[in-house]
Amino acid sequence: MKNRRIKVVVCGVAGRMGSAVTDCFQAAEGVEVTYGVERKDHPDVGGNLKGVPIVGDLSSAIEDADCIVDFTGPSFTDELVKEGKARRKSLVIGTTNLSAGSMGAISDASKSIPIVLSPNMSPAMNVLLKIVPDVARTLSKGFDISIVETHHRWKKDSPSGTARKLGQILKDITNSEPQVKSLRIGGVVGEHVVTFAGEGEVLKLVHSALSRQAFAFGALLAVKFAVEANPGLYGMSDVLKMR
Ligand code: NAD
Repeated sequence: MKNRRIKVVVCGVAGRMGSAVTDCFQAAEGVEVTYGVERKDHPDVGGNLKGVPIVGDLSSAIEDADCIVDFTGPSFTDELVKEGKARRKSLVIGTTNLSAGSMGAISDASKSIPIVLSPNMSPAMNVLLKIVPDVARTLSKGFDISIVETHHRWKKDSPSGTARKLGQILKDITNSEPQVKSLRIGGVVGEHVVTFAGEGEVLKLVHSALSRQAFAFGALLAVKFAVEANPGLYGMSDVLKMR
């Protein structure tokens, strides 16, 4: 991989994230987007996006690919995991709201291929995920904990995958469910606020994604990691070497 560009297929290429990923990857060195995959009935199939051919057939698109990036919906992710495992391709999965069954299939496939899975690929958000346990351990007594997440009006899942992940981390540490609120308003790319409220003071940890570039850049780092990795299931903490 050292002397040639990494060939990437972007699934959900005509969507908000797929389009941001394509922009980011095309501007990056060492990576080329060879195909974009869309629903077979999508009007852009047969055309191209920023010079990238858009196809409806995953199987032929991934023939020469080194890595496949997924920002679609859960049913497509299931198909991709099957295909990726059969064809021994590394995968970067950003799609959220995956069922327990899908997670099981991902875990099983990761025994034979490298998979990076993260509901939030933004590097700064992953730093927040790393520091939250320390804060929760210190402030677990006498503080109420809440998570408020705000996203654009088109986001399908609620609460966000990131809010659910934060909630699980907090529950594991404090043994109680944090209050979680979701807002779906306007074009907000993504904001998560974790509040630790005591009687005399309040600590807020805030992450705001200012554009989808934050997630796309994380996906780029994940691709570069995945193509060099051994089979296994990885998160952004592995990609960012935060362990
Ligand atoms: P979107 O609706 O704008 O785009 C999804 C695209 O996937 C659409 O173009 C759709 O046609 C395509 N698609 C759906 N089913 C398909 C199928 N069966 N085959 C091929 N293409 C298919 O959504 P979005 O805002 O781009 O988000 C996509 C996913 O990424 C969501 O699950 C979202 O929560 C997640 N997301 C993850 C991160 C992260 O950092 N991990 C960041 C933002 C969004």
